[in-house]
Amino acid sequence: MPSHDVLIIGAGLAGQRAALAAAQAGVTVAIMSKVHPVRSHSVAAAGGINAAVSVTDDWRSHAYDTVKGSDFLGDQDAIEVMCSEAPAEVMHLEHIGVTFHRNDDGLLDLRAFGGASVKRTAYVADITGQAILHVLYEQLMKHSDTVDRYEEWFTTSLILDDEGTCTGCVARNIRTGDMEVFTAKNVILASGGAGQIWKPSTNALICTADGITQAYRAGVPLMDMEMIQYHPTTLLENGFLITEGARGEGAHLLNSEGERFMEKYAPNKMELASRDVVSRAEQTEINEGRGVGEDGAGIYLDITVVPKKRTLEALREIVNIGKDFAGVDITKEPILIRPGQHYIMGGVKTDVDGATPVPGLYAAGEVACVSVHGGNRLGANSLLDTLIFGRRSGEHAAERAKSMTMPTNDRTQLLKDEAEIKEIIGRPKTGRRVSEIKDELGTVMNRYVAVFRDEAGLQHAHEVVRRLKEEAKSAYIDDQGTVFNQDVLGAIELGYMLDAAECCVVAALERKESRGAQFRTDFPERNDDEWQKHINTSINGDDVPTIHYSPVTITQWQPEERKY
Ligand SMILES: Cc1cc2nc3c(=O)[nH]c(=O)nc-3n(C[C@H](O)[C@H](O)[C@H](O)COP(=O)(O)OP(=O)(O)OC[C@H]3O[C@@H](n4cnc5c(N)ncnc54)[C@H](O)[C@@H]3O)c2cc1C
Repeated sequence: MPSHDVLIIGAGLAGQRAALAAAQAGVTVAIMSKVHPVRSHSVAAAGGINAAVSVTDDWRSHAYDTVKGSDFLGDQDAIEVMCSEAPAEVMHLEHIGVTFHRNDDGLLDLRAFGGASVKRTAYVADITGQAILHVLYEQLMKHSDTVDRYEEWFTTSLILDDEGTCTGCVARNIRTGDMEVFTAKNVILASGGAGQIWKPSTNALICTADGITQAYRAGVPLMDMEMIQYHPTTLLENGFLITEGARGEGAHLLNSEGERFMEKYAPNKMELASRDVVSRAEQTEINEGRGVGEDGAGIYLDITVVPKKRTLEALREIVNIGKDFAGVDITKEPILIRPGQHYIMGGVKTDVDGATPVPGLYAAGEVACVSVHGGNRLGANSLLDTLIFGRRSGEHAAERAKSMTMPTNDRTQLLKDEAEIKEIIGRPKTGRRVSEIKDELGTVMNRYVAVFRDEAGLQHAHEVVRRLKEEAKSAYIDDQGTVFNQDVLGAIELGYMLDAAECCVVAALERKESRGAQFRTDFPERNDDEWQKHINTSINGDDVPTIHYSPVTITQWQPEERKY
């Protein structure tokens, strides 16, 4: 039975940063991932990472922009930690080998991003995530004597002891189908987001809410789950992301009248208002008949106004995406986009060291909600979140491990998970297919838990999710083998997605106001008196999740009307 001081589930940016920090603190580490680490979703991150590194910038300005971007739902103590530690983190990345763009003076070049009052986004063309992920992976190799890598292992459950302390996990070796108990003094969940709950999504197929639901099932509250980010520029046809870096470089949004309509909605920031504001503006134009493309369901993103040389240098990936996935040369003609599901602001509730209310269990990155994003995440703040809170979790978990003895685990949870997998594989083909249920879930969520919401739509979505949860219990798969049986893992992931989706819907129903990414057409105003608080959802057996509230931490910025 493998045992480690710190076990990290997830090898994207949050997981790898946590692993590096824990290894540097001198403890034994395991890092586990259901895909090869450099295929983690972080590899897709494009536009950059925010940090007040310029001599004319200040971390407090970054923090204020983040608080305002969050629509005053973000916890300001956590935002202060993230923004004040950002410059050192970005310089650290530079020093370990991330080849950030430099300007003609040899300084880090910074690009404009939405909701930021100055240019503060460091970048590597439009492959920033890939650049950072590969450097971290390389750095981890230096610690190969103390860091064990479990690549293509799928965590099925967390293990809690009788006192409710997390002592490890059960995982399946995807290549062989063997199951194993992993024991650890501390577990860090770094298993990413939940985009696959929506169809389409900009997120990778692996973003299936695994860690979010594993923590929820272990009794950890999920916070801010109603806050789902729709990114303003995803391809009309298939939901692929066109980075905000394009607007940062100067691209325009145009409606069917050829107007730069953002003038009406955010006259000061135009296309670079926060994402919730731009997505709502686009959807309003579309709903009011000023959309473009088939059925008027899109908006033009005009990148031709950016000098071609600059586009080819700084936006080279989206040049390829435009050609390959929309048949458009973005240096010559506008491309059709629309708002599309992109990010989950909510997740596993943690403190600023990544600790959850379950002793021994930490969470960092998109799986977590320390609440630095509140109602709306600013572009380029997620990579920062993964690295700052990944590092802090790694350091904290390592320190905690030093004063502990190794716990012991029996095989109870393993036997349960093995039996569940056997039951799924053995199901008769009388129910629905797993993929059919996933499709219906995605379509319903994208219709009713999207840019605009209302009571009736959310109630309907909730009824559908409850029905799908029932149907999932008998959903069948085709592959009955053990080697690389992705089918059976898909069935397990469907269960994770349905639990997390229910929390999103229930929280969105509960919040009877409009704030950040939650716009309720039946409650169109922000209502600080009643709703400036976090909504938490906790497991309640098979029943609808229990709702409870927690206060928003305010340090120096009192809520004010948000205008861009
Ligand atoms: C197209 C795109 C572009 C983006 N661009 C930017 C950007 O420019 N700037 C920015 O700040 N943000 C950006 N984001 C957001 C950002 O990329 C993500 O929020 C961030 O990378 C998430 O990192 P993570 O480490 O939390 O999770 P991930 O990178 O998603 O990693 C999750 C890890 O968990 C593992 N895992 C999951 N479930 C299991 C399981 N059951 N068992 C074992 N392992 C498991 C996975 O294998 C993976 O290793 C972008 C997002 C998208 C979709």
